Amino acid sequence: MLLSITTTHQPATDLGYLLHKHPQKLQSFKLSFGKAHVFYPEATAGKCTAALLLDVDPIKLARGGKSRNFSFALQPYVNDRPYVASSFLSVALAQVYGSALNGRCQDQPQLVNQPLPLEAHLSAVSISGDGDLVQRLFVPLGYEIEATHLELDPQFPEWGQGQLYALTLKNQVSLQALLNHLYVLVPVLDGDKHYWVGEDEIDKLLKRGESWLETHPARQEIVNRSLKYRRQLTQQAMAQLLEDDADLSETDDSPEEKKEATLGLHQLRLQTVVETIKASGAQSVLDLGCGEGKLLRLLLQDLQFKQILGMDVSYRSLQNAQERLHLEELPARQRERIQLKHGSLMYRDEQLGGYDAAAVVEVIEHLDADRLKAFEKVLFQYAQPKMIVLTTPNSEYNVMWSELPAGQFRHPDHRFEWSRAAFQEWATNIAAENGYRVRFVNLGPEVAEVGSPSQMGVFER
Ligand code: SAH
Repeated sequence: MLLSITTTHQPATDLGYLLHKHPQKLQSFKLSFGKAHVFYPEATAGKCTAALLLDVDPIKLARGGKSRNFSFALQPYVNDRPYVASSFLSVALAQVYGSALNGRCQDQPQLVNQPLPLEAHLSAVSISGDGDLVQRLFVPLGYEIEATHLELDPQFPEWGQGQLYALTLKNQVSLQALLNHLYVLVPVLDGDKHYWVGEDEIDKLLKRGESWLETHPARQEIVNRSLKYRRQLTQQAMAQLLEDDADLSETDDSPEEKKEATLGLHQLRLQTVVETIKASGAQSVLDLGCGEGKLLRLLLQDLQFKQILGMDVSYRSLQNAQERLHLEELPARQRERIQLKHGSLMYRDEQLGGYDAAAVVEVIEHLDADRLKAFEKVLFQYAQPKMIVLTTPNSEYNVMWSELPAGQFRHPDHRFEWSRAAFQEWATNIAAENGYRVRFVNLGPEVAEVGSPSQMGVFER
């Protein structure tokens, strides 16, 4: 099994830094199921190819493996596993290219997130599924695909073709993204995993799928196949994926690393909101419907914000926010910057007045449409911050998710979801009635006709 990765980025030999593998050396690694070798068939400044050769030991597999359903006696010894790209490749990627997969590069850190012209070639991929599967998986991620259907045996053309393909995938992406795509999607193509799939598989899938799986049109199919259609696991994975809950609080990463980490949709939304508010020069900020405090965390990290008030109608969410932000343990000067308040956006509240900015992130769609008027008054007429940044789902994007039946909302508690036109009409009227200007920003990957998964209105007075 051979995976080669080629770049024409200049100087192309930077690939060696990114993979942490010297282009002049042949390196071999012992894996539980055989060996992996890394070498560079070509390494010039103009073009560089790193090859990962997997030498899967069929005897080891047959003896050490769990009992599988084999249809004939010699099958444990005679099968395609050593030769096709499968979950063995994913394990090898994690062990041999682990730094690159996790986005670490000491020598050239600026390359980690840089989209590079990359081409991955897989010598043989077993595609179990309909002929469009490769397209469904890779086209939405921007890949150009060349798939060559391989003959079962070139010496016996009359045997015809099997389900093996040689696959070339081209894209302008970061190496980390390419490796994570392969890590998840190669076993999805293959339709199998060489190990028992349990709950820890969900974590791996969500980690490797961070920043792209959540919005992938085939996310349900990817989750199903990755977790071998085990209903309990697939349901849990989808719930976690859609929870909008990529949580920064549990990580020990430095702020720089956080900045560099790839962003899930909700993180992207929160970062964009913070950057927009920061650029206005605001020093006092309201986070209305603050939930468990993900935005508050980002606001606290930036010392420009001297006064932060998070408000939510759910007492439980506020308690969680208090714990997650470790408010009790903050030094007094930090603690003084932030306040949590139990309250509803339906009622006028003097305490909300006089702030520079307010964020209302994914909240309005939780309000009953006929009570929206009350919210509009409370925020735009009475509280009247200089800037209001408000986000809400874009319902047009829902068609991208095949598992979401037409007309159904993304979240059971949503009371409505608006198209871009509906949101813009509402926002433009509210702005005009209350003396604000408004502009609109798409949040997340944009698709022709349907736009991005989420939308943001920025109101300024
Ligand atoms: N802004 C957070 C949470 C979004 S979920 C985030 O982006 O992560 C929506 C939040 O709005 C919930 O926490 C819910 O309790 C809150 N909410 C719903 N109705 C509200 C109301 N009338 N007043 C204040 N908060 C409300």
